[in-house]
Amino acid sequence: MKQYLLPNKGKFYKACLHVHSRVSDGNREPEEIKEEYMAHGYSIVAFSDHDVMVPHNDLTDENFLALTAVEAQVNSCKDDDFDYVETIHFNVFSRDPEKTFFACFDAGYVWMSRTPEYVTDEHRKKSYTRHWGIEHFNEMFELCNKDDCLVMLNHPVWSQMRYNDYIDMKGLWGVECYNNECYKFGFEDTMTPVDDLLRKGERVIPTATDDAHRAWGSFGGWMMIKSEALRYQDVFDAMKRGDLYASTGPEIKELWIENGKVHVETSPCVKIALSTERRAIFKSNARDGETITWGEYDINDYIARSRQGFGMDKNYFRITVTDEWGRKAYSRAYFLDELEK
Ligand SMILES: [Zn+2]
Ligand SMILES: [Zn+2]
Repeated sequence: MKQYLLPNKGKFYKACLHVHSRVSDGNREPEEIKEEYMAHGYSIVAFSDHDVMVPHNDLTDENFLALTAVEAQVNSCKDDDFDYVETIHFNVFSRDPEKTFFACFDAGYVWMSRTPEYVTDEHRKKSYTRHWGIEHFNEMFELCNKDDCLVMLNHPVWSQMRYNDYIDMKGLWGVECYNNECYKFGFEDTMTPVDDLLRKGERVIPTATDDAHRAWGSFGGWMMIKSEALRYQDVFDAMKRGDLYASTGPEIKELWIENGKVHVETSPCVKIALSTERRAIFKSNARDGETITWGEYDINDYIARSRQGFGMDKNYFRITVTDEWGRKAYSRAYFLDELEK
């Protein structure tokens, strides 16, 4: 029987999970962002202005969903030149569309553009003080998770994070493997932090985003979220379950496993690769000048070896699709213990 890795029910909705408006340091109003993204086929935008969570539910209608989010940051010290301090940035996505106060809101970090206007006395009273250091990062991620939010580590390459900076992180839902504005500035994110965390057993989802502050940074990296409907909680829960994939171009139309064979259907591409946390890799390449649209990979031997040796809860596979322009689509990682459920 087919086991669907991307659900066969529901519909794919194109989503931008990271963008900035005039609320913080973007140059477009939220309404303009909605209009431009809808014109490019998007149905979902998570408005993630810096350090204040500002819902834009007034923009939601039957064809568009605004997700309530924020990008929070911690700098290693406050006063130095920003280009020289160490920094981490992460997005927090709220399950409650009306939320304005998030678990690690820090009034000390609110200064950009219109953001101070959104800070109330109530916010100030409950303000949290962010500190530099892995134990503090993990505490913030845990607080956000307990508060029914998802946490995504943003642009680890732009932040110039080293292995030791992220490898002990816990409680992340996602990690950006592609950030369009960073890419255009010359900081190319990679799957390495995602694979490093996966190998440690942190089930993080690779995400592609824009982080657009202006039109120039828009429409380069997105998520395709498969949800029963374009309803806030349905979409949030689909994100949480991982019913999605990341893309900078290609589509993953179908993904299932049957009798140990993984079947992938894509838009025209030149390579489909199923990679694992071992060196076991399965792939299909198009002939020169041609394209392919599907691949099938027998991973029975890999599953048997995992069952005997490494452990079904430790091993995973994931799919990467590359098109003729070098653009990619990334599935999330599927751990083998999921297949036994
Ligand atoms: Zn950032
Ligand atoms: Zn950003």
